[in-house]
Amino acid sequence: MKDTVNQLKEYLIKHDIKPSTIRLKILEYLLNNPIHPTADDIYKSLLDQMPTLSKTSIYNTMDLFAGKGVVKVISLDEKEARYDINTCLHGHFKCHVCERIYDFPISCDIQTPQELEGFAINDIDINFYGICQNCKNKERRIWKWNG
Ligand SMILES: [Zn+2]
Ligand SMILES: [Zn+2]
Repeated sequence: MKDTVNQLKEYLIKHDIKPSTIRLKILEYLLNNPIHPTADDIYKSLLDQMPTLSKTSIYNTMDLFAGKGVVKVISLDEKEARYDINTCLHGHFKCHVCERIYDFPISCDIQTPQELEGFAINDIDINFYGICQNCKNKERRIWKWNG
């Protein structure tokens, strides 16, 4: 456990962030729960362990993490930002039934489109929307019962 804490500390220091208890807790949560949580999800999950935690401190920490490249802020069709600990290029699929977000790999050697030559590209978002396999299977079962 002590080793893990040290690893988390190193990870933050490497990203030019001073490790504090709250930052370490949030980082640990993100690494253990790569579910693209919202600030609210993080808050609810950590409140038991840290009763003095405030939502503002979560937002501040996440802004810092995003600014230093520890997390990527993902904007699907959400009212609330979600945070992704996986900052490598990958695509997202959002199921509009269970609202889960699935990751899928994307080839890293995407060619810059000719139309964007000479542009500075800071970010690439590849988002798919639909119904995931789990939810599709459930739907099929319900039809069977009804039919
Ligand atoms: Zn689903
Ligand atoms: Zn992701």
